[in-house]
Amino acid sequence: MAALRHEVRAILAGTDAQPGWRALSDPGPSGEGDPRPLYRLLGAHRLLAPAWPRAFGGRFRPATHSAVIVDEMVAAGIPETLHTLSVQICGNFLLAAGRPAQRASVLPMLAAGRQYCTVLYTEQDAGSDLARLATRATPEAGGGWRITGRKVYSVRTNLADLGLVAARTSEEDSHYQGITLFLLPLSARGITVRQLPSLAAESFAEVVLDDVLAGDHDVVGEIGGGWPLITDALALERTGADYAAKAQAWLALTAGAARPPREDWLRDAGRLAARTAAARAMSQRCLSRHDSGRLSPVYAAATKLWCSETARAVAEWGLDPLGEAALWPAGDPAAVAAGRLEAARREAPGLVISAGTSEMMREVIAGAGLAAGEWTQSRPEPLLADLRDAVRAVARGQQPDAQSWAELARLGLPRLDVDPAAGGLGLGPQAHAAACGELGACGYDGHALDTLTVISAVAGSAADSPARDLLPGLLDGSRLGAILVPERPDRPAADPGRDGVILVLPGLHLLADQPAAVPALEVLDSRAPQITYQTRPTSAGTVVSLSLQPGGTGQPLGSAEGAVWPVLKGDLLRRAAWLIGAGDACAQAAVDYARARRQFGQSLLEHQAIAHRLADLVAQGEALRSLLDAETDLDGGQPCGAHGLAGAAGLLAEAGRFATKSAAEGIHIHGASGLVRGSPVERSFRGAALAIARGPAPGLLDRLAAAPLVAG
Ligand SMILES: Cc1cc2nc3c(=O)[nH]c(=O)nc-3n(C[C@H](O)[C@H](O)[C@H](O)COP(=O)(O)OP(=O)(O)OC[C@H]3O[C@@H](n4cnc5c(N)ncnc54)[C@H](O)[C@@H]3O)c2cc1C
Repeated sequence: MAALRHEVRAILAGTDAQPGWRALSDPGPSGEGDPRPLYRLLGAHRLLAPAWPRAFGGRFRPATHSAVIVDEMVAAGIPETLHTLSVQICGNFLLAAGRPAQRASVLPMLAAGRQYCTVLYTEQDAGSDLARLATRATPEAGGGWRITGRKVYSVRTNLADLGLVAARTSEEDSHYQGITLFLLPLSARGITVRQLPSLAAESFAEVVLDDVLAGDHDVVGEIGGGWPLITDALALERTGADYAAKAQAWLALTAGAARPPREDWLRDAGRLAARTAAARAMSQRCLSRHDSGRLSPVYAAATKLWCSETARAVAEWGLDPLGEAALWPAGDPAAVAAGRLEAARREAPGLVISAGTSEMMREVIAGAGLAAGEWTQSRPEPLLADLRDAVRAVARGQQPDAQSWAELARLGLPRLDVDPAAGGLGLGPQAHAAACGELGACGYDGHALDTLTVISAVAGSAADSPARDLLPGLLDGSRLGAILVPERPDRPAADPGRDGVILVLPGLHLLADQPAAVPALEVLDSRAPQITYQTRPTSAGTVVSLSLQPGGTGQPLGSAEGAVWPVLKGDLLRRAAWLIGAGDACAQAAVDYARARRQFGQSLLEHQAIAHRLADLVAQGEALRSLLDAETDLDGGQPCGAHGLAGAAGLLAEAGRFATKSAAEGIHIHGASGLVRGSPVERSFRGAALAIARGPAPGLLDRLAAAPLVAG
């Protein structure tokens, strides 16, 4: 993928691209610049539709390569709407459902950027409820059709050559039947295209079809069978790649323009960076599923919801760090990022309307029953699924004490991500994430996460380090671990008891501010005299906090330089996995309750206000799981440096907010019964707060997540 990005950048920066850039910056008669010459240049390199077969002008690469093209266009400031409509939506539609002759004649032209196709579905009185469309196609006596109707809101139609038109060909009992799709040249007699200026920089079009003659060969798919094709194709419009690319580009532009970085907006930048990273990970997953034929329309709806709402949030945020400069348009010599952010603000409201509004996405998710596991989760590897089941069987309803930990150790939990040479199972961070997610779903916390981090530090120490002697006991579950952060003497931990191992971990803010001055990792015996224990009650049970007496030190682990980064990253990711698991479980508890509870003669789930809140939660959980999978897949546990922590830090902060929101929504949907002491959602509410308090402060995590943006 890096090579592909490099290739696209080189083409767009080359001399061949110069005329294209000039065409784009020339407003022309429409006032909007013409991106087609740049598209054509990419098309000449088979880069407009890289996922298509070579015979149709593509490179036959995975769909994720198409996302790279969109990404690079957006980053370079090339409007991608016409491309997305023409290639990603209409072209992919024809690839899947077009007649052989349509595919052979049209696809190579679209892939080369020599023709453009647009979507003509929406009408004045048929928007979200598209099946109510009024455009009619009546059969001609000698074959063919006459089409009359008025389509609205397609974008850049002044530059398009073809339109994919939805028209009613028969009246049926269900208005989802009797709709047919036609592929028509926009130059056909009877078609008039009129510009409808929009809030956004790209105008809409009104397309009037007045007795337009179409041949039978212009029909796409079966006569009367257009609706299932439209809904299948909608999944392709909802892979989120364009929205995620916009979020990423606008965030980088805003952070780059808002100098110097200020504390008051850095946190928001970090939050949005994490949301954007989740959008990108979710969109990638969506595209991969499309490639393997497993893309469910529900998953695509959740992706569209998350990605478009994220892009909107990024665009709206710009006013905060940039102030009034966010309003200076292109053409103003002082315009920020050549006016792109000002244009983004005006484009943003349309992102959550086009390709299905956010409410429609929530309807799709809610309509699928909001059941996690059916459409939300990628099919987990059987090994990970078994691991989850096994962890759940032990941890559900158990106190996190030495006895239950020993049982989890018998399952191999402490050894999951430890090198086999050191006595581990070597299953990698994804196995850890799966297990920790399940612990979170069971509300099993206590010493578990601290112990896993102690194990990763000790297992990463030099082979001849005396600390290695601690490893067998940690791996067989007979020793517990705890983390001591010298700068945070009140950090809640769990007492590791006798024979426990204390890891002295530098505070994250020290590392964030002075990454060069990373102290070595140290361990101590849990009963070492340098350690002071303080027990205190919290709303989620009794905790201990550990502090190191002044001047006290531990035994250096003798790890390689930089070993602290992967240890920290693993710690952040396991905490994030735990919180995501906790949030998911709470959301599911709320779904189950809402399904069973009846008010006003129907289940709570049938009330849109409830169903939509839950749909948002389910989509957020899925977005964060996608990011978790992407983060645990990265780096392979290699040293990652301070910036390498940014993704994990942002994810942990978001995971904490997700768990908090999920618990609060869970209580709200349970009504007063959710507040009763001991109810599952009430316990989750308290448990999530304690789990967040054990990790680094969310504000610090957000700042770390923003660090790469600020560094440029
Ligand atoms: C930037 C942009 C590009 C577009 N490009 C194209 C294109 O290329 N081709 C094309 O054919 N169309 C295009 N459209 C049109 C788009 O598909 C429609 O705008 C969209 O389907 C919504 O329809 P509507 O605007 O009529 O709103 P309506 O459906 O009337 O909805 C109005 C509001 O009511 C809400 N709402 C509606 N029904 C419900 C319900 N049951 N429950 C809860 N809330 C509900 C909606 O969420 C929305 O907030 C584009 C739109 C935009 C903004």
